[in-house]
Amino acid sequence: MLNFAALKKLIMKLIKGTKLYSIFTGTCPVCHQGDMYLENNPYKLSKIMKMHDNCSNCGKKFKIEPSFFFGAMYVSYGVGTAIAIATFIIAYFFLGLDRNYTFLVIIIALSVLFPYILRISRNIWINIFLDYDKKIAEQ
Ligand SMILES: [Zn+2]
Repeated sequence: MLNFAALKKLIMKLIKGTKLYSIFTGTCPVCHQGDMYLENNPYKLSKIMKMHDNCSNCGKKFKIEPSFFFGAMYVSYGVGTAIAIATFIIAYFFLGLDRNYTFLVIIIALSVLFPYILRISRNIWINIFLDYDKKIAEQ
């Protein structure tokens, strides 16, 4: 029987070398090995924004230019909207909640998931500008 840990390991193996790997694991977009964040758990809110300056593995600078991660706000808007729409579909159509409860569920979902939305948005943003480099990864 397939358990969650084995399934996660399989998925990570399949997406290794793609931008999805860096986006979902928070690793360096160039080598997929060094961590971008000082703290891997996004729910430790005091450290949520703290990032390494450079990749510990390949030395790539994460903050490409001053205020680089401000652009992640635009991505965050898109990710938040996608989650709100998905929550609406689940709550309104599948669970059959009325409009007011659906609205409440959307607010709760966005509040609870905000650390993940923030991290995922930053990861997507940096992956727009930096690409995986197999040569650097194998060094
Ligand atoms: Zn790296």
